[in-house]
Amino acid sequence: MTLNLDKIDDQQLLKNTEALVKQERSITIFLLAHLDEIESRRLYAELGHSSLFSYCIKKLGYSESEAYLRIAVMRLSRSLPEIKEWISTGDITISNVVITIQSIKRQEKISGENLALEEKRALLAAVSKKSTRAAKQLLEAIEDKKRADQQAKSAPPLSLLMPPAADELTPYTTTTTATTITTTSELIFSGVSGGNSGNSGSCGSGAPAADEILPPWSKAVLLYKVEVSSAVLEKMATLKNLAGNYSDCELLELALQKTIESYTKPSVNQHRQNHTLTPSPQNNHSRYIPQSVRQEVRARAKDRCEYISPITGERCEEVHNLEFDHCQPFAGGGENNVTNLRLYCRTHNLLVAKNTLGKEKMDQYWHVKN
Ligand SMILES: [Zn+2]
Repeated sequence: MTLNLDKIDDQQLLKNTEALVKQERSITIFLLAHLDEIESRRLYAELGHSSLFSYCIKKLGYSESEAYLRIAVMRLSRSLPEIKEWISTGDITISNVVITIQSIKRQEKISGENLALEEKRALLAAVSKKSTRAAKQLLEAIEDKKRADQQAKSAPPLSLLMPPAADELTPYTTTTTATTITTTSELIFSGVSGGNSGNSGSCGSGAPAADEILPPWSKAVLLYKVEVSSAVLEKMATLKNLAGNYSDCELLELALQKTIESYTKPSVNQHRQNHTLTPSPQNNHSRYIPQSVRQEVRARAKDRCEYISPITGERCEEVHNLEFDHCQPFAGGGENNVTNLRLYCRTHNLLVAKNTLGKEKMDQYWHVKN
């Protein structure tokens, strides 16, 4: 489309531009609402995408940063719907919302606890009507202050960071209780942080002295060295890209937490196994998939999700969170052989399970993020 703006006078040109900016903001709000609804319905899965992020890039043509930006704002607006109003009036830009979201994550990491909704709202209000540069400076100052407060509250003196001798460990591990530790911990760290808070009065009421209870190295930050392969580095980079602005330490903790959860939550396959559609003709056949079969299926799939959307005909090709899925359910007598197994990502394993078992049963496994 070509626009011939030569004939429009200056005033009209400026007026039209302002009107277009208003329209652009309104369209942004509509777009966020649509992305929200698509994620709630998981329509991206039906179309052969493993996530809303993937759908935004492959189907809608956004760059990774454009997709991340819109999805991050959309998810925060679920708990703070007024963000949409602020964007539509121009009080806050999407960029400033995103850097605030990133700062919220860092602040929560610093303090070890989630920010309340009111605190998030206050941060967004603080960066409204500011340039992105000014907003960044403000948020960094807030983080620095929080970091300093946290360090003052929790850091033991340098002398306490020295590793204990072996014979010093025994008294700390034998006779204390959780209640005593909590109480004394507060005394220790309030005592060493402020300098002039008067810790001598607090400790004189019969409670054991701090150094009798807690191992002095218990709050130390440890340097943990480990050799990793290039595959691990690639996964770290991918996770950093998907999860946002985390440090390597935070990413590792996030990955460990997700792995632990995957072991402690009931798996979809377990759920499907319990829901026998038809009696299995081979109730004693093993769920174990032989290594050779796994390798052959992985080779056929080229280590990518094999789901093909019946709507678009497009294959998913996700490379993360891959699981083996039975074409004919195991509980219905399906065999663990190459022709009956397919490699699906988590999203499409859940989609197939939902189509088999019903939306109500599977909704507990679909989590819409905030
Ligand atoms: Zn998939």
